[in-house]
Amino acid sequence: MRKKRYILTFPAKSGDKALSYHLVKDYDIRINILKAEVRPGKTGSLVLELKGTSENLKKGIAWLEENNVSCEPLNKKIHWNEQKCINCGNCTAVCFSGALKMDSNWELSFNSEKCIVCELCVPACPLNLFEIDFRE
Ligand code: SF4
Ligand code: SF4
Repeated sequence: MRKKRYILTFPAKSGDKALSYHLVKDYDIRINILKAEVRPGKTGSLVLELKGTSENLKKGIAWLEENNVSCEPLNKKIHWNEQKCINCGNCTAVCFSGALKMDSNWELSFNSEKCIVCELCVPACPLNLFEIDFRE
């Protein structure tokens, strides 16, 4: 099983539910929706983590592209320089995915599984402690 993240952009007439249904039913791909911007009658976008065999992921992506859904692999990651953090909390205000949170001791915690690499935390940190990592 492989896990890969993609940014999907789909035309107004394809619903995100129909896309998810086909990926699960026809290609046995498990889907974790990290971010969804879907408005009725408008172009939509999703950030998804897909889990499946390499072959099924390839077939599922090919099926999406045949159905006019653009699929861009999300190969970036956010690197947090934890040692230098002063726990000011600024970055949590811009992290809508919930990847950055203050814990019960008022210390910052970073859950990379929830990160959608929106990059909003990069300019939000006064100490420049976030960097984009392009290595897979
Ligand atoms: S890039 Fe930063 S702000 Fe965006 S989801 Fe990841 S941790 Fe949160
Ligand atoms: S903004 Fe920077 S210094 Fe402040 S809590 Fe976030 S990572 Fe730490």
